[in-house]
Amino acid sequence: MENWAQKVERLLKQQIELYGDEEVLARQSLQELLNSSLKGESSEDWRQSENLFIMNDRISSCLQCPLGYTRKSFVFGNGKGDADILVIGEAPGEEEDRQGFVFVGRAGELLDKILAAINLRRQDIYIANVLKCRPPQNRDPQLTEIAACLPYLHKQIELINPAFILCLGRIAAQTVLQTTTSLEKLRGQAYPFMNASVIVTYHPAALLRFPQYKRATWEDVKLLRKLYDEWLTQKSMNHGR
Ligand code: SF4
Repeated sequence: MENWAQKVERLLKQQIELYGDEEVLARQSLQELLNSSLKGESSEDWRQSENLFIMNDRISSCLQCPLGYTRKSFVFGNGKGDADILVIGEAPGEEEDRQGFVFVGRAGELLDKILAAINLRRQDIYIANVLKCRPPQNRDPQLTEIAACLPYLHKQIELINPAFILCLGRIAAQTVLQTTTSLEKLRGQAYPFMNASVIVTYHPAALLRFPQYKRATWEDVKLLRKLYDEWLTQKSMNHGR
């Protein structure tokens, strides 16, 4: 069983790996985490979490659905805590479950290439999944599992408050938009959700199996880039007033 000092060390290492020279930021967040623990706050208080680090700590032992009993790692999400763009996938795969990070392995490499094609890097965005624990054999998430985990995703969206959400794959798109409409029909436009505009596209794991969807994915991420550039222009004009 991990003691508190070991947990802080592990989280610090994770954050340094993710943020590199933004280590100071990571240390500040860990200090907040440490303070909240010393105050004896309950892990049931996750809804009151004021930042992602504290929320992660409060829910990382979750057993709200059966996947909590079969996972190796709880995979909360990684990236910039106040990112303009939140990317949402489906659930951890085998490698994510092993390492505890989102989108590692071949699908992660492809996601990096897709992001690079529209001049984005992982450290500019935040990446999370609908489910924080791996479904056995990478089967589709069950509706009961999604229902159990969805409040966590909604809280992450609230804390990050992104301007754009890019949903990767049918499960993420249908879950975020609360619809049964097919991915093909949802593509090609932006939908409002919370304070964000939601754009949907194919999951990188699907692109590895069906490369013919790459062209459509390119169109989708170009749409994201166009809307994001327009948003940035508007934002700078508003600041200039
Ligand atoms: S998948 Fe979500 S609800 Fe289920 S145990 Fe993991 S964190 Fe909890």
